Amino acid sequence: MTDRLTMQDPRDQYPRPPFPKQPQPAPGLAAEMDPKPDHGEESYRGSGKLTGRKALITGADSGIGRAAAIAFAREGADVAIVYLPAEERDAKDVVALIEADGRKAVALPGDVTDEGFCRSLVADAVAHLGGLDILVINAGHQQTREDISQVSSADFDVTMKTNLYALHWITQEAVPHLKPGASIIMTASVQAYDPSASLLDYATTKAGIVAYSKALAKQMIEKGIRVNAVAPGPFWTALQPSGGQTQEKLTKFGEASAFGRPGQPVEIAPVYVLLASQEGSYITGEVYGVTGGAGIA
Ligand code: NAD
Ligand code: MG
Repeated sequence: MTDRLTMQDPRDQYPRPPFPKQPQPAPGLAAEMDPKPDHGEESYRGSGKLTGRKALITGADSGIGRAAAIAFAREGADVAIVYLPAEERDAKDVVALIEADGRKAVALPGDVTDEGFCRSLVADAVAHLGGLDILVINAGHQQTREDISQVSSADFDVTMKTNLYALHWITQEAVPHLKPGASIIMTASVQAYDPSASLLDYATTKAGIVAYSKALAKQMIEKGIRVNAVAPGPFWTALQPSGGQTQEKLTKFGEASAFGRPGQPVEIAPVYVLLASQEGSYITGEVYGVTGGAGIA
């Protein structure tokens, strides 16, 4: 494959649909995906932007969180990763990649819908890393439902707990540990701005994340801490084959974007690095779209 950073037509840089149907139970494994996502394992090159930083990333075993974890480690950070126990196989790969860069990796398996786990994971990360400079709230739950009648209270509850309550619990617990120069990054979605009919509960949480991050940014700058959100469009991650889309839609995933293909996780990692690093010193309360051309206005 051509080097990722060689000048080239971005529309042809990565696989285009059609993709094979590949149902997986939630939360899904990147290791089982076809084609394999590019999280930057071979292709991300660091340049010391996060030397000595201590980062905590939720949902970092696969997808966008994994790409951020690999990029942060290559940029010189130690990284604690949170994931569900069912994702141990993907998480082991991420730990090995971080350690291969000579950085410390801290594995924190557990379920973020549990308040007690959210609060203790922050203390564990701080203890193992020796502090905390970067918090990435990225774990997310997405289950497609065609009609409002199909969104059960249990569905609604798990989406709210995973995408919003956990974000609040973990952030609330982390703030006392953060010093001036620290950065909080939340993963929202293009769904906050242009919600799909089949993602009622999910889109609602993503709009909530945008509002929460903007409100928190106003508080945190008083402490010299920046807060931003990233709004991805269609990215080729385990979230999609494991219930985020119907299998029918998955075969055409990303086709409607201006690129005619989904983004690969590594293509959004540089935005997390920018927002985490001192390069982003004047950036707070913003939402960064990486939507594949759809925009977030
Ligand atoms: P992903 O499945 O690879 O990552 C999501 C992660 O969330 C999982 O790996 C899992 O570890 C974690 N998670 C889910 N429920 C959890 C729970 N109860 N406890 C602990 N961890 C839990 O998929 P992704 O697409 O990389 O998702 C990352 C973020 O990006 C999510 O917030 C998602 O909503 C957002 N996003 C994704 C897309 C896309 O097209 N892939 C688009 C917009 C936004
Ligand atoms: Mg995963």
